[in-house]
Amino acid sequence: MRLALLATFLLSAACASTHPSPRPNAPSPSTPAFDARFTGRTLRFDYVHCGTATEEHVAPAAYRLEGEWPGSRTRLVDDTDLGKYRFRVFDSATKTELFSRGFASIYGEWETTGPAKTGWGSFEESQRFPEPKTPATLALEKRGDDGTFHELWRGDVDPASRFVDRSALPRKGEVIPIRENGPAASHVDLLVVADGYTAEKRGKFVADVKRLTDVLLSTQPFARNAARFNVRALFVATPESGISNPRKGVWRDSAFGLSFNAFDSDRYVLTYEDRTLRDAAAQAPYDALILLFDERKYGGGGIYNLWATCAADTEPAAYVFVHEFGHSFGGLADEYYSSQVAYESTGKHDVEPWEPNVTALLDPAKLKWKDLVAASTPLPTPWDQTGYDAMDVAYQAKRKAMIDAKASEEASEALMREVKTQSAPFLAREPYFGKVGAFEGAMYEAKGLYRPEADCIMFTRNPTTFCKVCERALERVIRSYVE
Ligand SMILES: [Zn+2]
Repeated sequence: MRLALLATFLLSAACASTHPSPRPNAPSPSTPAFDARFTGRTLRFDYVHCGTATEEHVAPAAYRLEGEWPGSRTRLVDDTDLGKYRFRVFDSATKTELFSRGFASIYGEWETTGPAKTGWGSFEESQRFPEPKTPATLALEKRGDDGTFHELWRGDVDPASRFVDRSALPRKGEVIPIRENGPAASHVDLLVVADGYTAEKRGKFVADVKRLTDVLLSTQPFARNAARFNVRALFVATPESGISNPRKGVWRDSAFGLSFNAFDSDRYVLTYEDRTLRDAAAQAPYDALILLFDERKYGGGGIYNLWATCAADTEPAAYVFVHEFGHSFGGLADEYYSSQVAYESTGKHDVEPWEPNVTALLDPAKLKWKDLVAASTPLPTPWDQTGYDAMDVAYQAKRKAMIDAKASEEASEALMREVKTQSAPFLAREPYFGKVGAFEGAMYEAKGLYRPEADCIMFTRNPTTFCKVCERALERVIRSYVE
């Protein structure tokens, strides 16, 4: 999720395939090509990503040995071409590329905000990769205005050197198995981390994890791949219930520092304590992290290949959980936009976005999801954007007034329900509803960017499903972990 979440109004939310019986803690299958180059453990590179709107720096901080490498042992070089950034690992002697991974970051969002124009920001980041047996060269790259990656930083590490911390991982909290389906190397390993839960709430946390991951794994394309997911929960108790909410003057010393109001956006929830989080998370094998926090107030966030956050007790918690996981796991963009949001837009869309579910439609003949568009569906695809915007402007005005008045969650949820009763039938009446096309208005832009369907869980809270383009993009990411 990018920052324009000033518009966060929409941040706003099984058929298991045949599979051998669960094999908890089963060993990973033998992979000779992988074994020749890697030790089988995970190496973590911690650094600080800092800068302003016009300059950007990477400052290495530490190298840390973690447990077993949980990712694929055959799909090591990332061919998805997702992410604002890319991390690459080369063998120093032969220059062979050993590993790569696209990602997005808090820094990458922060640099587009107003404060980046007048001062510096600095953020903890980490990259995890299979520990090479020989000295390696690491590179961080950023996607430029031309859409291709350019190197930002390069450095060397000898994994066998004294500069890699090989001490035992600190014990923090309790790892609780929720679903164990097989070896980490051939499964997607989800780790749901508690924040803002007191010790007495352990049972509630486990129930929250089960409830929300059950919804996720009943949603396509996760449902048909449910047997390829392992789910674990990390419970770390905090002394006080809940997380910080600066707009209401509420401050909490929670385990992982989650807070509302990230980038001054009321319902955007992030933490800036990434290293603390990584040290604790390393106690379990994981490919994807979701931070679940014990709050009644609506909120969350999701950044590609970083993590997702979600409030457990808000009425649309299931929506938030699935929607934010779409960002963090699949690199999906928000498909919503708001006609009256004053975020900082360049207004020019002459480069195709990397996000798989948004297009600038520069050449309809080359639309990246063209194979899903029926010949009878025009591109761009007509829809009543004027009518929709009129409805949205009225809603945004009500919502802003409620935030200003510090309205209750019950009042704000009532407004969300009211919007749903209008916008769901409105979109369902569209002549091309349910068809894949290119509908103008997406990713915080009313004009110039297009989404694949009239509605999708990345667009509104109406549907409980992803559009066909989002579903396929997520399926491709699942494949990259389980093949
Ligand atoms: Zn979609």
